[in-house]
Amino acid sequence: MKPTIALVGRPNVGKSTLFNRLTKTRDALVADQPGLTRDRHYGHGKVGGKPYFVVDTGGFEPVVDEGIMMEMARQTLQAVDEADAIVFIVDGRVGITPQDKLIAQRLRQSQRPVWVAVNKVEGMNRGVVTADFYELGLGDPVAISASHGEGVRELLSEVLDGF
Ligand code: GDP
Ligand code: MG
Repeated sequence: MKPTIALVGRPNVGKSTLFNRLTKTRDALVADQPGLTRDRHYGHGKVGGKPYFVVDTGGFEPVVDEGIMMEMARQTLQAVDEADAIVFIVDGRVGITPQDKLIAQRLRQSQRPVWVAVNKVEGMNRGVVTADFYELGLGDPVAISASHGEGVRELLSEVLDGF
Protein backbone atom coordinates (compact mmCIF):
# COMPACT_ATOMS: atom_id res chain seq x y z
CA MET A 1 0.00 0.00 0.00
CA LYS A 2 1.21 3.47 -0.87
CA PRO A 3 -0.16 5.62 1.95
CA THR A 4 -1.20 9.24 1.60
CA ILE A 5 0.22 11.58 4.21
CA ALA A 6 -1.46 14.97 4.72
CA LEU A 7 0.59 17.89 6.04
CA VAL A 8 -1.64 20.01 8.23
CA GLY A 9 -1.05 23.05 10.41
CA ARG A 10 -1.65 26.75 10.76
CA PRO A 11 0.05 29.16 8.34
CA ASN A 12 3.80 29.65 8.37
CA VAL A 13 4.76 26.56 10.38
CA GLY A 14 6.66 25.06 7.44
CA LYS A 15 4.19 22.73 5.69
CA SER A 16 5.35 23.66 2.19
CA THR A 17 9.02 23.51 3.18
CA LEU A 18 8.46 19.98 4.47
CA PHE A 19 6.44 19.11 1.35
CA ASN A 20 9.36 20.23 -0.82
CA ARG A 21 11.76 18.10 1.15
CA LEU A 22 9.47 15.07 1.06
CA THR A 23 8.99 15.36 -2.68
CA LYS A 24 12.40 16.88 -3.49
CA THR A 25 10.78 19.49 -5.67
CA ARG A 26 10.32 23.20 -5.47
CA ASP A 27 6.69 22.72 -6.49
CA ALA A 28 5.03 23.84 -3.31
CA LEU A 29 4.99 27.54 -2.76
CA VAL A 30 7.16 28.50 0.21
CA ALA A 31 6.11 31.86 1.50
CA ASP A 32 7.62 34.42 3.79
CA GLN A 33 4.15 35.79 4.39
CA PRO A 34 1.40 33.59 5.78
CA GLY A 35 -1.54 32.60 3.65
CA LEU A 36 0.13 32.17 0.28
CA THR A 37 -0.39 28.46 -0.28
CA ARG A 38 -4.09 28.14 -0.77
CA ASP A 39 -4.57 24.93 -2.69
CA ARG A 40 -3.94 21.38 -1.78
CA HIS A 41 -0.83 20.16 -3.45
CA TYR A 42 0.08 16.57 -4.20
CA GLY A 43 3.45 14.87 -4.57
CA HIS A 44 5.18 11.62 -3.86
CA GLY A 45 8.43 10.29 -2.49
CA LYS A 46 10.16 7.33 -0.89
CA VAL A 47 11.91 6.71 2.42
CA GLY A 48 13.76 3.48 3.22
CA GLY A 49 12.30 1.90 0.09
CA LYS A 50 8.75 2.76 1.17
CA PRO A 51 6.79 4.97 -1.21
CA TYR A 52 4.19 7.50 -0.12
CA PHE A 53 1.94 10.21 -1.43
CA VAL A 54 2.06 13.53 0.36
CA VAL A 55 -0.48 16.36 0.37
CA ASP A 56 0.41 19.95 1.26
CA THR A 57 -2.54 21.99 2.47
CA GLY A 58 -3.27 25.67 2.81
CA GLY A 59 -4.26 25.04 6.39
CA PHE A 60 -6.64 27.17 8.38
CA GLU A 61 -5.32 30.42 7.00
CA PRO A 62 -6.47 33.54 8.82
CA VAL A 63 -7.28 35.57 5.72
CA VAL A 64 -9.61 38.52 6.01
CA ASP A 65 -12.39 37.08 3.89
CA GLU A 66 -14.15 34.57 6.04
CA GLY A 67 -15.51 32.81 2.97
CA ILE A 68 -12.01 31.96 1.80
CA MET A 69 -11.05 30.90 5.30
CA MET A 70 -14.01 28.55 5.43
CA GLU A 71 -13.17 27.17 1.99
CA MET A 72 -9.59 26.45 2.98
CA ALA A 73 -10.58 24.86 6.24
CA ARG A 74 -12.96 22.70 4.23
CA GLN A 75 -10.16 21.70 1.84
CA THR A 76 -7.88 20.83 4.73
CA LEU A 77 -10.58 18.71 6.32
CA GLN A 78 -11.10 16.99 2.99
CA ALA A 79 -7.36 16.29 2.74
CA VAL A 80 -7.48 14.86 6.25
CA ASP A 81 -10.42 12.69 5.25
CA GLU A 82 -8.59 11.33 2.22
CA ALA A 83 -5.30 10.73 4.04
CA ASP A 84 -4.06 7.54 5.67
CA ALA A 85 -1.86 9.47 8.11
CA ILE A 86 -1.57 13.08 9.24
CA VAL A 87 1.56 15.06 10.03
CA PHE A 88 0.45 18.00 12.16
CA ILE A 89 3.17 20.64 12.02
CA VAL A 90 3.70 23.15 14.82
CA ASP A 91 6.36 25.81 15.35
CA GLY A 92 8.86 24.86 18.02
CA ARG A 93 10.06 28.44 18.32
CA VAL A 94 6.60 29.89 18.86
CA GLY A 95 5.05 27.19 21.06
CA ILE A 96 1.39 26.15 21.13
CA THR A 97 -1.08 28.75 19.82
CA PRO A 98 -4.89 28.81 20.18
CA GLN A 99 -5.13 27.87 16.50
CA ASP A 100 -2.91 24.82 17.10
CA LYS A 101 -5.30 23.74 19.84
CA LEU A 102 -8.31 24.06 17.52
CA ILE A 103 -6.61 22.03 14.81
CA ALA A 104 -5.54 19.40 17.38
CA GLN A 105 -9.16 19.11 18.49
CA ARG A 106 -10.32 18.47 14.93
CA LEU A 107 -7.53 15.97 14.32
CA ARG A 108 -8.35 14.02 17.47
CA GLN A 109 -11.80 13.48 15.95
CA SER A 110 -10.39 12.44 12.57
CA GLN A 111 -9.90 8.71 13.29
CA ARG A 112 -6.55 8.97 11.52
CA PRO A 113 -3.08 8.34 12.96
CA VAL A 114 -1.54 11.74 13.71
CA TRP A 115 2.10 12.68 14.28
CA VAL A 116 2.96 16.05 15.78
CA ALA A 117 6.05 17.45 14.06
CA VAL A 118 7.70 20.25 16.04
CA ASN A 119 9.41 22.24 13.29
CA LYS A 120 12.15 24.91 13.10
CA VAL A 121 14.17 23.37 15.91
CA GLU A 122 17.52 23.09 14.13
CA GLY A 123 20.32 23.32 16.66
CA MET A 124 17.93 23.03 19.60
CA ASN A 125 17.61 20.31 22.24
CA ARG A 126 14.97 17.85 21.01
CA GLY A 127 13.72 16.81 24.44
CA VAL A 128 13.31 20.39 25.59
CA VAL A 129 11.55 21.71 22.49
CA THR A 130 9.07 18.85 22.24
CA ALA A 131 8.06 18.82 25.95
CA ASP A 132 5.40 21.57 25.67
CA PHE A 133 3.62 19.88 22.76
CA TYR A 134 2.46 16.79 24.67
CA GLU A 135 -0.35 19.07 25.80
CA LEU A 136 -1.90 18.77 22.32
CA GLY A 137 -2.96 15.27 23.30
CA LEU A 138 -1.70 13.65 20.11
CA GLY A 139 1.11 11.50 21.43
CA ASP A 140 4.89 11.89 21.33
CA PRO A 141 5.90 14.99 19.36
CA VAL A 142 8.79 14.56 16.91
CA ALA A 143 11.39 17.34 16.55
CA ILE A 144 12.27 18.31 12.99
CA SER A 145 13.82 21.04 10.91
CA ALA A 146 12.11 21.02 7.52
CA SER A 147 14.53 23.56 6.09
CA HIS A 148 17.67 21.79 7.39
CA GLY A 149 16.33 18.25 6.96
CA GLU A 150 16.90 17.29 10.59
CA GLY A 151 14.62 14.56 11.93
CA VAL A 152 12.64 14.35 8.68
CA ARG A 153 13.75 10.83 7.75
CA GLU A 154 13.07 9.61 11.28
CA LEU A 155 9.62 11.17 11.23
CA LEU A 156 8.74 9.59 7.90
CA SER A 157 10.07 6.20 8.97
CA GLU A 158 7.79 6.32 12.00
CA VAL A 159 4.79 7.40 9.95
CA LEU A 160 5.40 4.73 7.31
CA ASP A 161 6.06 2.00 9.86
CA GLY A 162 2.39 1.12 10.08
CA PHE A 163 1.92 0.69 6.31
P1 GDP B 1 3.52 27.03 5.46
O1 GDP B 1 2.73 28.30 5.46
O2 GDP B 1 3.15 26.18 6.64
O3 GDP B 1 3.47 26.27 4.18
O4 GDP B 1 5.05 27.44 5.75
P2 GDP B 1 6.27 27.61 4.70
O5 GDP B 1 6.81 26.29 4.29
O6 GDP B 1 5.83 28.55 3.62
O7 GDP B 1 7.37 28.29 5.64
C1 GDP B 1 7.10 29.49 6.36
C2 GDP B 1 8.41 30.12 6.78
O8 GDP B 1 9.07 29.29 7.74
C3 GDP B 1 9.39 30.31 5.62
O9 GDP B 1 10.06 31.52 5.81
C4 GDP B 1 10.34 29.11 5.78
O10 GDP B 1 11.60 29.36 5.25
C5 GDP B 1 10.40 28.98 7.30
N1 GDP B 1 10.77 27.62 7.73
C6 GDP B 1 10.23 26.45 7.31
N2 GDP B 1 10.85 25.40 7.90
C7 GDP B 1 11.79 25.90 8.71
C8 GDP B 1 12.75 25.30 9.60
O11 GDP B 1 12.90 24.09 9.74
N3 GDP B 1 13.56 26.17 10.30
C9 GDP B 1 13.44 27.53 10.17
N4 GDP B 1 14.26 28.28 10.89
N5 GDP B 1 12.57 28.12 9.34
C10 GDP B 1 11.73 27.32 8.62
MG1 MG C 1 2.39 26.61 2.48
